[in-house]
Amino acid sequence: MGTCTESDCDRKAAVRLYVPWDEDRNVCASHARVLVQRDGVVAMALDDAEL
Ligand SMILES: [Zn+2]
Repeated sequence: MGTCTESDCDRKAAVRLYVPWDEDRNVCASHARVLVQRDGVVAMALDDAEL
């Protein structure tokens, strides 16, 4: 499934984020918690996520 796409982060990707102003991205649970607070961002858990 890959790793978090945020820079300087190599944790396992756990959540897919749909970002209105940018490309969709897979991020770790920690980054998802931060990014999902921005307006319009939608988070969907990946099927094999270990939350
Ligand atoms: Zn991350």
